[in-house]
Amino acid sequence: MSDIRPIHYKIHLEPDLAKFQFAGKLELVLAVPAPALEVSLNILDLAIWKCGLMGQGHEEACAFSVDPRKEELRIFFPRQVSGEVPLVIDYVGEINNRMAGFYRSRYVRDGKERFAAVTQFEESDARRAFPCFDHPAMKATFEVEMLMDGGLTAISNTAVVEERPLEDGRKLVRFERTPRMSTYLVFFGAGEFEFIQDPGEVLIRVAAVPGKAQQGKYSLEFLRKALTFCEEYYGIKYPLSKLDLIAIADFAFGAMENWGAITFRENLLLHDPEKTSKAGEERMCVVIAHELAHQWFGNLVTPEDWKYLWLNESFATFFGYGVVDHYYPEWDLWEQFLQGQTEVALDRDALHETFAIEIPGGDHVVINASTAPIIYNKGGSVLRQVEGYVGKEAFREGLRLYLRTYQYRCASSRDLWEALEEVSAKPVSKMMSNWIGQPGFPMVTVAREGGNLRLTQERFTYLNAPSDQEWLIPVSVRVFYGDGQSKETATLLDAKSAILDIGAGAVAYKVNDGQSGFYRVRYRDKDNLKELGRQIASRSLSAVDRWGIQDDLYAMVKRGDVKIEDYLDFLFHYSEEDASLPLSSIAANLHQTFILREGSFRQRVASVGRTLFERVLETIGYEPGRQEKHTTSILRDQILWQAALYGSTKAEEFCMTQFSLLLKDQKVHPDIQKSVMQVGASCGSQGTFEWFLGKIKFSESEHERMNMLVAIGCFKDREILERVKRYVLEEVPDRNKFIPIGVMSENLIAIPSLWDWYQDNLMAFERFHPVHYERVIASLVPICGLGREEEVGNFFQEYMKKQEKLKDVVKLSLERLGIHSRMRHS
Ligand SMILES: [Zn+2]
Repeated sequence: MSDIRPIHYKIHLEPDLAKFQFAGKLELVLAVPAPALEVSLNILDLAIWKCGLMGQGHEEACAFSVDPRKEELRIFFPRQVSGEVPLVIDYVGEINNRMAGFYRSRYVRDGKERFAAVTQFEESDARRAFPCFDHPAMKATFEVEMLMDGGLTAISNTAVVEERPLEDGRKLVRFERTPRMSTYLVFFGAGEFEFIQDPGEVLIRVAAVPGKAQQGKYSLEFLRKALTFCEEYYGIKYPLSKLDLIAIADFAFGAMENWGAITFRENLLLHDPEKTSKAGEERMCVVIAHELAHQWFGNLVTPEDWKYLWLNESFATFFGYGVVDHYYPEWDLWEQFLQGQTEVALDRDALHETFAIEIPGGDHVVINASTAPIIYNKGGSVLRQVEGYVGKEAFREGLRLYLRTYQYRCASSRDLWEALEEVSAKPVSKMMSNWIGQPGFPMVTVAREGGNLRLTQERFTYLNAPSDQEWLIPVSVRVFYGDGQSKETATLLDAKSAILDIGAGAVAYKVNDGQSGFYRVRYRDKDNLKELGRQIASRSLSAVDRWGIQDDLYAMVKRGDVKIEDYLDFLFHYSEEDASLPLSSIAANLHQTFILREGSFRQRVASVGRTLFERVLETIGYEPGRQEKHTTSILRDQILWQAALYGSTKAEEFCMTQFSLLLKDQKVHPDIQKSVMQVGASCGSQGTFEWFLGKIKFSESEHERMNMLVAIGCFKDREILERVKRYVLEEVPDRNKFIPIGVMSENLIAIPSLWDWYQDNLMAFERFHPVHYERVIASLVPICGLGREEEVGNFFQEYMKKQEKLKDVVKLSLERLGIHSRMRHS
C-alpha cells in the first residue's frame, strides 16, 4: 500500500434500470504526502472512459491502465503531484444480477416484473460500483448524487439535501456528506421504494417495495427501542440524522449494516401476523439489533484489517441477543444463544480444519461458510465468557472507553483488550489473546481423587491428533452433597492440569456450571455421570446444565470416545424433560444419528425420538396455546415434524389435518406452518407439489415462501424429487436455491441421488452466489458422500486445482464426511 490516501469521494451516478447499466463520474480528492507519479485504485467489472486531474476550471487528462486480474486501475499523473490532489474518473458499469456490487433486485408488482438497483459491498465489492481504495482502513467522506428516472426514489447512507426535477423527466437527488467511513459501508439504491417512518431525534424509516412498507411496523417499533438501548449502553449518540431499514427482494445474506441504510432480506424485516412465526419474529429482532450494534462496532470504529473482522461480528452477535433480551427477557434468548450460537461454534471448531477468531494472514479474508461460525458464533460465545470474567459493569465501561477512543477511526484486537484491562484491572489481554489468537478450544477431563477433582485440559477435536495447545480456562463447578445441598466453586485452569478441592462429602459434580465457558467436559468417573443423570431426572440441575451434559456426551460420541448406545441410554434421564433447550438439542442430535446410522439401529433411534416427542407434544399440546412461552412454540415446530418423521401417527395425522386446511386456503397458526408443510410434502403426491408451486409463485410473504422451499425438500416420492431438483436449478430465485438443497441433503430418499446430481450440474452450481455455493457443498458432501468417500475425495482433489477459493469449505466438508463415516460404522 502506498502512502496515498483518500480524503473525499463525490460519486455521481446515472442508473438506467431499463438497460441495467449505469454511468458514473467520480471526483476523488487524494492526500498525497510525498511527490508521486501515479496512484492505484481498486476496480472490478467497470469500463473506464477517462481519468483526469482537476485544476482551476479545467481538467488535465491522465493516462491509465487496468489489470482485471489484480482488480486494479493505475492512473499516471502528467507530472509529479503532492498535497491534496483532485482526480476525476468517468466510467460505466452494469447493474448486474449477482447480488454483489451495484445490482438489480427483482420483484413482481401487479403481475409485472420490476427491478430496483441496490448495492451490497462487504467485503470487497464497492470496487464494482466506483473506483476506490477498497480497504476498511482507508476511511474517507462520501457524497452521493443520483440522476435517475423521475418516478423512482433514491436512498443512500445519509439524508437527501436536494431533489431537483429536470426537464427530460429525470431528477437529480443529492445526499448529505457522510462522516469518515469505509467503502464497504456505502449504500445507494434507486427504485420504487415506499416508506413508513417514526420521526424522533433520529428519523427512522422502513423502506420496501410498494404495498409492503406497512409490514415494517413491527421492525420500526423494535428499532426505536434498540436505538435507545444502544445509545445508552455505548454512551455515544447515533451520529447520523436518519436511519433506514430497507427490505430487498434479492439479497444474498440476512442483512447488511450499511451506515444509516441497513439492508435486509424481506423475511427479516417485514412482518405478516398470519405468516410470521414467533421464531421468525425473534429472528427479526435479533438481526435488527445485530445490524444496529454494527453502527458502532464496525461503522464508527472499524477493524484496521479484515483479520480483525471479529471486532464487528462477535460484538454484533453478542448484542443481537443482549438487546432483545433486555426488552423481552421472557423469550429466554440467552438459552437460545447456547444452542443457536455456542453449540454450532463448538461443533464447527472441533474440526482440525478451523481458524483462530482473529484469522491469520488475511489480506482478503472473506466471511464464508467456513469462517462465519468462528467469527460470529464462537466470537460471540467467547465475549459472553469474558463478560462473565470481568463483570457486566467493567465490560460496559471497557467498551465505552474503546468506542470513545477509536471513533471514526480503526482499531485492532489489542486496542479492545487494553480498554477492557484498564477498566477491569484483570489480565484480560492474556486471556483474550489465548482465546482469540489460537484455533480450536479445550476439553476438560475430570477425574475424582478422594476429596479432590483432577482437571486436565487438551484440545478437543473429533478426529484425533496430538496438540500441545493450552488455554486459560475459567472453570466453575457445582458440587452436590448427600443432604441435597449444592454449592458452586471455581478456579482458573492456567496449566495442563490442576487440582480442585471439593471436600469428602460430595456425591456429584457438574463442571462448567451454568455453561458460560467455551469448552467440552469429559467425566472419567462413570458413577458421577449416573448421579448427574439422577439430578437431571429430578431437575435439580438447571435447564442450561441439563442441555450441556447431554450435548458434551454427544460430542464424545462424535469423537469416538463414547458409544452412541450409551448416549441413547443416557437420554432415559430426560424422559420427563420439559425445557426447550435440552429437548431441542436432543432433537438435533437424534436427527443426525437417524440419518447417519442405517437398518435396525436407525429404527431404534426413531423409536427413542418418537416416544420422547409424543410425550412432549401431549404435554405442551399439538396446537399452539395462547399464552405459551416463545420457546415452547419454537420447539413444537421442530419436534412435530421429527415425530412424524420417526413414525408417530398422531403427529402425522394432526399435521395432515392442518395441511388440508392450507390446501383449502384456510388459516393455520403461523407457529406450526413450517412443520405442517413439511409433513404435507412428505406424505404428498404430484398434485401436492403442483399446489406448492402455485403457492410459492403467488405468495406475498418471503417468510412463507422460505417455509415452502423447506417443505418441498421433504417429498418422499423419487419422481417428485426429480422435479424438485429441476425446479430448484431452473426457477427458484438465486437467493433461495440453497434452501431446498440443504433440506434434501437430510432427506433419506433424496440423499442417494444428490452427489450425481451435483456432478451432472456442476456448471449451474458454480453460478450460485459464492457463499451459497459453499453452503451447498457443506450440506451435500458430509452426508451424500457416505459410501463413496474415495470417489468424493478424488473429485475434490482435481476440482480444487481450478476452484482454489473453495478450499476452506471443501476441507471442512471432507473432514465432516470422515467423522460421519466413522459414526456410521461404529
Ligand atoms: Zn454482522
